[in-house]
Amino acid sequence: MSNQAETSSGLRGRTAIVTGAGRGIGSAIARRLAAAGAQVAITSRTAEQLEQTQRWIERDHGRALSVVADVTDENAVERLVDETHAAFGPVDLLVNNAGIAPLAKIEQLEPGIFDTIIRTNIRSVYLCTRAVWGDLCARGGGAIVNISSVAAEDPFPGFAAYGAAKAFVNAYTKAMAVEGQPHGIRVYGIAPGAVDTDMLRSVFPDFPASERLEPDQVAGLVELVLSPACRYISGQTIVIRKS
Ligand code: NDP
Repeated sequence: MSNQAETSSGLRGRTAIVTGAGRGIGSAIARRLAAAGAQVAITSRTAEQLEQTQRWIERDHGRALSVVADVTDENAVERLVDETHAAFGPVDLLVNNAGIAPLAKIEQLEPGIFDTIIRTNIRSVYLCTRAVWGDLCARGGGAIVNISSVAAEDPFPGFAAYGAAKAFVNAYTKAMAVEGQPHGIRVYGIAPGAVDTDMLRSVFPDFPASERLEPDQVAGLVELVLSPACRYISGQTIVIRKS
């Protein structure tokens, strides 16, 4: 029989950063972590959306800090971590959620769009992870969740670069888990299928409503993998999909 420590999320009093938290899945994750007692630094490029997420968190008596930042920019990521330190202290948890998924078949994939896909879906994971790694090591542990996609394993026409970028994220997740293990750092990937967000609505407006996950269902899985019960599955990427 597991005790209370095994079943509780263990998030109370932890400091978390959630990227891409202005809307969609990231906003739902930030609200979940705050509701579980974490203090959450939220970031995206759009101030009004961050403020909305912060208002929801504070309405539910949670603690949040909004930091407008482009997570593909090294200086902006350093500022994000500095501001998080100043408000909440060292970082325990990072959710690399920010991403973009423009639909473009191979012959239409302009170099500029390709670079933006790579910067947003790959470079941001590298930069944010690097920026908090020292905190996690110094604290003797912590956790990172990388939001991937079923597109990493299940190619869809128009998602070649996006799917390959998410496959990088899956491989990086495994590597991070191996390097993190001696420091007590756990790393998980979560690969959703279709989720009802602005991203999905803009790319696949006709996607059947009955086959869309709600953002909070993905957020619930993030909270679950962060619980002590999942400590021995570090390095894995878990698929969550309705169809
Ligand atoms: P949304 O487009 O609804 O939200 C994306 C969030 O990321 C926004 O807050 C956006 O804010 C932020 N963001 C994008 N680029 C940057 C940047 N350079 N710097 C900082 N913030 C940024 O997407 P979803 O919520 O649907 O997607 C979240 C994650 O889930 C992504 O990684 C996506 O690939 C993944 N995913 C989504 C699926 C779906 O069906 N929706 C399925 C599988 C995976 P702003 O633009 O203001 O910066």
